Amino acid sequence: MTKSVSTLTFKEARNELTSLKTELARHDELYYNKSEPEISDWEYDQLRRRLNEIETQFPELKLRNSPSQKIGAPVSGVFSKITHKKPMLSLENAFSKEELGDFIERVQNFLNTTKNLEFCAEHKIDGLSASVFYKNGQLAYAATRGDGYVGEDVTENIMTISDIPKSIQYLGEIEIRGEVYMPIRSFKELNRQREETGEKLFANPRNAAAGSLRQLDAEVTKSRNLGFFAYYASTFEHNLGIDKQTEVMDFLQKLGFSIAGYRLCQSLDELDEYCQDTSLERPNLPYEIDGAVFKLNSLELQNRLGFVGRNPRHSIAFKFPAEEAETVILDISIGVGRTGKITPVAILDPVNLNGAMVSRATLHNFNEIERKQIAIGDTVKILRSGDVIPKIIAVTKKSGNTTFAMPSICPSCGAALVQYPELVDLYCPNHYGCSAQVVRYISYFVSKSCLDIPGLGEKQVAEFFEEGRIKTALDIFRLREKEIVSPLASKPGWGKISAQKLYDAIENSRNVSFARFIVSLGIPGVGEIVAQILADRFKNIESLQKAEKTDLVELEGLGDLMAEEIYAFFRNDVNINFIEEFKNLVTVSYQEKVIDTASKFYNKTIVFTGTLSKLSRNEAKQIAISKGAKIGSAISGKTDIVVVGKNPGSKLKKATELGIQIMPEEEFLKE
Ligand SMILES: [Zn+2]
Repeated sequence: MTKSVSTLTFKEARNELTSLKTELARHDELYYNKSEPEISDWEYDQLRRRLNEIETQFPELKLRNSPSQKIGAPVSGVFSKITHKKPMLSLENAFSKEELGDFIERVQNFLNTTKNLEFCAEHKIDGLSASVFYKNGQLAYAATRGDGYVGEDVTENIMTISDIPKSIQYLGEIEIRGEVYMPIRSFKELNRQREETGEKLFANPRNAAAGSLRQLDAEVTKSRNLGFFAYYASTFEHNLGIDKQTEVMDFLQKLGFSIAGYRLCQSLDELDEYCQDTSLERPNLPYEIDGAVFKLNSLELQNRLGFVGRNPRHSIAFKFPAEEAETVILDISIGVGRTGKITPVAILDPVNLNGAMVSRATLHNFNEIERKQIAIGDTVKILRSGDVIPKIIAVTKKSGNTTFAMPSICPSCGAALVQYPELVDLYCPNHYGCSAQVVRYISYFVSKSCLDIPGLGEKQVAEFFEEGRIKTALDIFRLREKEIVSPLASKPGWGKISAQKLYDAIENSRNVSFARFIVSLGIPGVGEIVAQILADRFKNIESLQKAEKTDLVELEGLGDLMAEEIYAFFRNDVNINFIEEFKNLVTVSYQEKVIDTASKFYNKTIVFTGTLSKLSRNEAKQIAISKGAKIGSAISGKTDIVVVGKNPGSKLKKATELGIQIMPEEEFLKE
């Protein structure tokens, strides 16, 4: 990971990309499917950034399935969906002054200018993005960011947020975007109440805000006292005479929205100064921030810069480094995961970190305990950023106790633990007989990314399992209506309506996409991204089951280890039987992707020559790529179109000789 991207050979880059994709797919799965992230947001960002850097250096290695093309969380089935008029993309991150400098330079290069550019600096609010749409001065609807393209309809809940006006002075159609957040005071009060009632505490204000906005009952949202800071209005499309981000902020305030303030910065030093000032301000702010955002102030230039992958080129988010603290390990508990993975967790003397009380830290595996010589009673340094369980980075004071010993048996079923070659973790091999694993697997099976049965969480699954209602994941489908509705209706925490809802949700889940079907099988390491790759390649389960190792290895993004794992999975008798039964209980469908082939540039190799007058070479290339073209550097028999600017030189001559289509710049821009 330490080798500079510019010194990587093609082969090294390809290998590293493969392993990065596998790693990111695994972390995405941990984060989204299991809500059990292993690494901090910060570390995740680093992995993702490395991937982007390699893809930028080696564009030919970039794939349609690349994690760099993914934004945020998939949309759940609980809310109806709203397609965003303009995608709600996420920002690229910077972690140092140097990287901010690189960003400014990239923008200048892209715009072909050496002039100082103006940036609008804002707080990076640690909440969740939302889009609010107004028509005739009235709030019409509101949506979460979702996957960036399609969000969830949370209109009713948004209506309960007092910072969001229900009517505004502007009468045209306008979209306002901003961050929904939970003020730190509300967050503390909410957790205090939950502690009293024995409910699970929210890890941080961001989680609490997300959980509060995505409530089925708007009254609950209302009781959570959420705030909203606006930072975007679709003014550019309306001839409002607004052509700067700073003017957008003023306009938003005039409409009655709260904004988190802004500052105009005109040089790298000013950007850096803003980061430092904000960092000092942070502990005293009534809301949580995790950095600063810099947006190119001119909206016209923003528009020209466009997007690269999932990020707009015109803005960047500076992220504060993760926070550290010291505390004492009170105990070490051992968890058993869905695949039998044994995870040691340190129980800590509660300590305040980034404003949140922390009482657990992940230890990942026993190698790490051994390597760091961790013992109960030791004083350790922990690091946390974002919403993950913090991790222990070092022992700062030894207690004198002996290093925590690796267990030899499973704490759930008593089976002897095993260590597979090439894997660092310990596993309980008793996959089908270990109740901890079965319960975890069933919980996973009904979760959002698999069958998506709302109303069934880990707690309910564990209860159903203990009560003997379900013994395997497929038993979910065998719960007859009467078995769910009547006995559940009288159970504490249930009722007739929620029991009926659960039954309906189970029936709805019987129509499942092929990708979700694959995710649901719980093949180690196969989350949504890999499942989609497999679904696109094999189209149906029978072909996937028959796939040879060589078919799997050649799929981009998989890697040898995962191919091996998938191949072995489909040759295990228990799994074969499970798939047969599963197939009979659900309807699996696969839909071909729609590819926009209408563009004149689709699948064409384009070469640019001469000086372009309306836009930079880089900009022109990006436009062509976005329409499905490939960019060539020299004229050859493979060239389809040559786009010609001023003083084209020898390339034009060669293209004419070869009879290649010549396209003047003006015509290119019209396409
Ligand atoms: Zn076990």
